[in-house]
Amino acid sequence: MTRFAEFHDKSLTQRDAFWAEQAQLIDWHTPPQQICDYSNPPFARWFAGGTTNLCHNAVDRHLAARGDQAALIAISTETDTERTYTFHELHAEVQRMAASLKALGVGKGDRVLIYMPMIAEAAFAMLACTRIGALHSVVFGGFASGSLASRIDDATPKVIVSADAGSRGGKGVPYKPLLDEAISLAQHKPSAVLLADRGLVAMNLVAGRDHLWADMRQKHLNDQMPCEWVDATHPSYTLYTSGTTGKPKGVQRDTGGYAVALAASMKHIFMGQPGETYFSTSDIGWVVGHSYIIYGPLIAGMATIMYEGLPTRPDAGIWWSLVEKYKVTVMFSAPTAVRVLKKQDPALLKKYDVSSLRALFLAGEPLDEPTARWISDSLGVPIIDNYWQTESGWPILTIANGIEKKDSKFGSPGIPMYGYNVKLVHESTGEELTGADEKGVVVIEGPTPPGFMQTVWQDDERFVKTYWQSVPGKMVYSTFDWGIRDKDGYFYILGRTDDVINVAGHRLGTREIEESISSHPNVAEVAVVGVADNLKGQVAMAFAVVKDTSGLTDDAARAKLEGEIMKVVDGQLGAVARPARVLFVTALPKTRSGKVLRRAIQAVSEGRDPGDLSTMDDPTPLTQIKGFFSA
Ligand code: AMP
Repeated sequence: MTRFAEFHDKSLTQRDAFWAEQAQLIDWHTPPQQICDYSNPPFARWFAGGTTNLCHNAVDRHLAARGDQAALIAISTETDTERTYTFHELHAEVQRMAASLKALGVGKGDRVLIYMPMIAEAAFAMLACTRIGALHSVVFGGFASGSLASRIDDATPKVIVSADAGSRGGKGVPYKPLLDEAISLAQHKPSAVLLADRGLVAMNLVAGRDHLWADMRQKHLNDQMPCEWVDATHPSYTLYTSGTTGKPKGVQRDTGGYAVALAASMKHIFMGQPGETYFSTSDIGWVVGHSYIIYGPLIAGMATIMYEGLPTRPDAGIWWSLVEKYKVTVMFSAPTAVRVLKKQDPALLKKYDVSSLRALFLAGEPLDEPTARWISDSLGVPIIDNYWQTESGWPILTIANGIEKKDSKFGSPGIPMYGYNVKLVHESTGEELTGADEKGVVVIEGPTPPGFMQTVWQDDERFVKTYWQSVPGKMVYSTFDWGIRDKDGYFYILGRTDDVINVAGHRLGTREIEESISSHPNVAEVAVVGVADNLKGQVAMAFAVVKDTSGLTDDAARAKLEGEIMKVVDGQLGAVARPARVLFVTALPKTRSGKVLRRAIQAVSEGRDPGDLSTMDDPTPLTQIKGFFSA
């Protein structure tokens, strides 16, 4: 057996001994009594009996050895600001934020919703929550009031932390009016809103409810706010993600298992050393931002860069200039970002000294071989694809160079990581597929490793039903991804088995977009599918049946309605969910029992053969859709 194979094998066959060793990588207030309690599958309780704190592991425990070292580097090319916080300074800011939240009534187990741009205060807020045992629920700043309202109702936060605005391309993007609208749409009302005022957009403050961070900070300038020691199984946060149904799921994460999983991944996979700088270009609204902008690098004693801005502004060399300036050793981004940079002047990459960089990790969507090759040749460092999900919290498939150096195979995210018992099964029989290059659903056998989601927030039944009962005859966790495994054990991910699409690494539920489009008064019916796109991987394409077609006589009228529908989506869900096109059709292709044939629509939209259409009721609608793409 190779070293990694042995390591992986031990993680499954001597599970408790393996994870007991990894648990040494973090600080415990009380050591765990039991490593893995799997007495109630599929609920895995990791490190039960132990008490710890995420914020302590990310901040406080570094104070003695590296208090004056950089911890958080907040860079905005939008507002032209750059500010480094040492561990001491971060500690002080987090205590001020924690004291402010406490003063606003937040206690252990309460939820705090964070709707913020990529500014340092967002990191303070996240760390302040876990410091006092409150759960944060970060909502991506690109989501609009409808999405925000449904998350407010599900998380029922006591306090919401937000800001006047984000900024994109140098222009302020107001957050506060969207937040006010979301709160008025939601049933649940937070008792307070804490606002960072960046001076970008004027704010109307609601008396008695809205508080300015600058004032609260001043009030609690010298407050000490010790870490609340919580059980390893105490939830640290919820993060909403899309699935098949319209309602987003609150992925709930624990504390001890997550801290151990991140510490272990920083050592074995990312190989970041204390004192070095980590740069993840993601956003705190996504899971990568939680694990590898905030918690992972800080737990490892690294400085972490939080970047607000575009990869191409002031020019496409900006990220490499930051690598040079801050001597970044580990970088994490998404294939779409690399494809954007690939279209720019290659000289911009050569302009900077990126010799500090040891590896570039890419995740969130399939990494195509030409993109991987281009960036690998340009940077001259290993490009490490890694496959995971909001649900898993850390990579499921990749390579772990910290255990054994392996080459990546371009096109494959890699092999199953330690702790993950990954299998491929037949979609309808559930039978395990063990042969090379057989296509099946990627599943994970329980118990899932530390760091993996605990449950769906306040809905254990949905957790079990959605994730663990979708494969016939077997209780295994479904990733809802198709995959194959080659003869060397490397996996290849072939897209989702459900109605989730992946636009520029952003995970979107097509049903949510359909619901939003259907709310336009002139839309009778709509189907949204993901269509392959050279830059974004996929884009959402909508096919709508209109109630009153009398006005739709020419291109201008159609374009007007298309624009109106896009505005509806922008307003309810946010521009991230806006379809690339809304095409008008007379009917949707359906089976005789009335089910919309989404896979057939997707196939013809991508110029592929739609496959078996024997259950189709009427071929005319599919022919009409084909017509849009054959021109
Ligand atoms: P999210 O929960 O937003 O991180 O999205 C997870 C989904 O993104 C997975 O289920 C995959 O469909 C896709 N995904 C993430 N990483 C990769 C990767 N490295 N290669 C292919 N697909 C990926």
